Amino acid sequence: MMKFPDYKKVLLDNNHNIYMIAGMIPLTFYAVYHLAFGLFSVGVITLLNSMLLTVVLIHRLRGVSLTWHGNFLLLCMFSSVVFLCYFLGIRGVVFIFPVIIGIFFKYPLISALRYSVIFAVLALLAALNSLETIMVARFSIPIIITIIISYRYSRKIEEHKTSLSREANQDFLTGISNRRSFMYWLKDNITRSKIDLLPTVYFIDIDNFKRVNDTYGHAVGDRLLLEISKRLISATRFSDPILSQLDKQAARIAGDEFVVAVSGINNEIHINMIGERLLKSINKLIVIDGFNFSVRASIGVATATNNNFSPEDLIHNADMAMFEAKKQGKNRIGYFCQALADEIKRKNKIASSIEAAIKSNSFYLKFMPIYDHTSSKIVGAEALIRNNDILLAYDVEHYIKIAEEFELIKELDLMVIEQSFANIKEILPIISDQEFVLAINISAVELKNIHFPNDVKRLAEKYDIPPHVIEFELTETSLIDHDESSIKVLKRLKSLGYRLSLDDFGTGYTAFNQLQHYPVDTLKIDKSFVSEISSDKGGNGSMIDVILSLANLYKLNVVAEGVEEQYQLDYLKKLNCSFFQGYFFSKPVNWQVFKKQLSDNYLANSKLTK
Ligand code: C2E
Ligand code: CA
Ligand code: CA
Repeated sequence: MMKFPDYKKVLLDNNHNIYMIAGMIPLTFYAVYHLAFGLFSVGVITLLNSMLLTVVLIHRLRGVSLTWHGNFLLLCMFSSVVFLCYFLGIRGVVFIFPVIIGIFFKYPLISALRYSVIFAVLALLAALNSLETIMVARFSIPIIITIIISYRYSRKIEEHKTSLSREANQDFLTGISNRRSFMYWLKDNITRSKIDLLPTVYFIDIDNFKRVNDTYGHAVGDRLLLEISKRLISATRFSDPILSQLDKQAARIAGDEFVVAVSGINNEIHINMIGERLLKSINKLIVIDGFNFSVRASIGVATATNNNFSPEDLIHNADMAMFEAKKQGKNRIGYFCQALADEIKRKNKIASSIEAAIKSNSFYLKFMPIYDHTSSKIVGAEALIRNNDILLAYDVEHYIKIAEEFELIKELDLMVIEQSFANIKEILPIISDQEFVLAINISAVELKNIHFPNDVKRLAEKYDIPPHVIEFELTETSLIDHDESSIKVLKRLKSLGYRLSLDDFGTGYTAFNQLQHYPVDTLKIDKSFVSEISSDKGGNGSMIDVILSLANLYKLNVVAEGVEEQYQLDYLKKLNCSFFQGYFFSKPVNWQVFKKQLSDNYLANSKLTK
């Protein structure tokens, strides 16, 4: 049984019960005065009785258990009253009043009514030996009043109970179950179900719901959620004779997150069918205030595997599967499997390592020089992040993606920028009369971060870095879903004086004519294209040729990345590629080594030009 302890608190807060009990005491005295007039001892005992009961009830309402049990107390009072009625005749009836109140506090409404009527009749029967007509009228009035007041008052308590229970179990917005009652249902179902009929949870998250709220306001958002909840409920009303037998529950567990659980399905076909049905029900057009909404959702599905499965874990698994569905492109169903859980666990571990490394400040930078094609002069370098933690020592690209997924990337990017600025500050005097640009990789996330340009500005001011020595590298793919706000961030960086380059160019299938919309200075040819250059056939009219002629058309610099062999360099030079970067020249090196490389290179060049 579920407990609703709060109603007691509410009643106590309102002090109703105190008034009611306090009101009963004069009523009892009224009865004593009229029925037991002249019997002093009966009056005193009744008074004590009422006071005692008041204490017991208040304690009971506060949830404090007493040394004696309420049941026992009532039983004693009940039998002593019948007994006293028998010996004291009609005068004993005064004891009825406090006991009746007690019954109403102790038992559910209808049984209390029944018990108190039975009890009153019994007491009257016991008092029959002294029955007088005038007395009947005098004692029945207060008894009836007591029963009516107690009944009415207890009904209020019941109403409070029901409304609080509703509040505790229903979602206030949609009226369907809330998380609490869903969890209760799920737990109960997992424990009770046969092993092959354990519940399946569908975790439903509305795609881009925030956009609805932001564009149309919360009132429209709320109505949309209400409509969605109705659709989910009707989608779980199955006409299929097998499915209609299934035990199910739908709930809203957070803002735009719904869950549906169905127990008793024992095959994949039905699991999938229900998922599709839920998705379809949401996908149908919703019209609110004349606006058409084509709502989309991502659904994650997970099934409990044993009777001890925790409901939290089950929801979590479905949530993970939903997250995967979102990542795969939204508006689809994702199914939980162990491999997915392992993958997520692994990512979580890496994300924790990243977090720890940020805290302990253990990320550092290596620098990869960039050379000019004619002079072999170092004209720049790319800062590349490094860490010695076992989980972060390899595959930088992979953990950068995880940092993006776990929203750690902004911190990481700023840290790299700050370290780069601190480093470049040291060489400002020697590069001031040279062409030198330090390339810093930034995540695609920054294009959606309107604060990014100002954060950069703040750091540049802190280290006194002139913007023209910095170039931010963005992968071409980050521009694929280019929208106005991304372009704004790029333009703002540009207006601050920073250079921009498109990294891994050629891999992201940018419509090349789009290039004019991006305020970029440099294209970086991805190393996969450079590695395709063969020693005998060169590039063979490959992507590199296209990129170079494009760069020429739009007057952009080109850096060829991943140059490892002489023949690659020769081929690129032949095509008038301007700059190179790769193991052929240098691997990424730490700052001290890079500084040395740079000054040696400048020295050699100045000797050459002399
Ligand atoms: P990317 O920006 O394309 O960086 C170039 C990657 O290619 C670097 O790997 C570099 O070491 C490698 N590389 C360059 N030339 C050669 C070559 O001749 N041969 C071979 N085998 N590899 C070469 P790294 O450092 O592992 O970085 C991988 C990716 O991680 C980078 O790709 C970039 O997308 C990302 N990344 C690295 N550092 C940062 C950073 O500080 N911030 C952000 N947001 N991303 C970073
Ligand atoms: Ca790069
Ligand atoms: Ca690259």
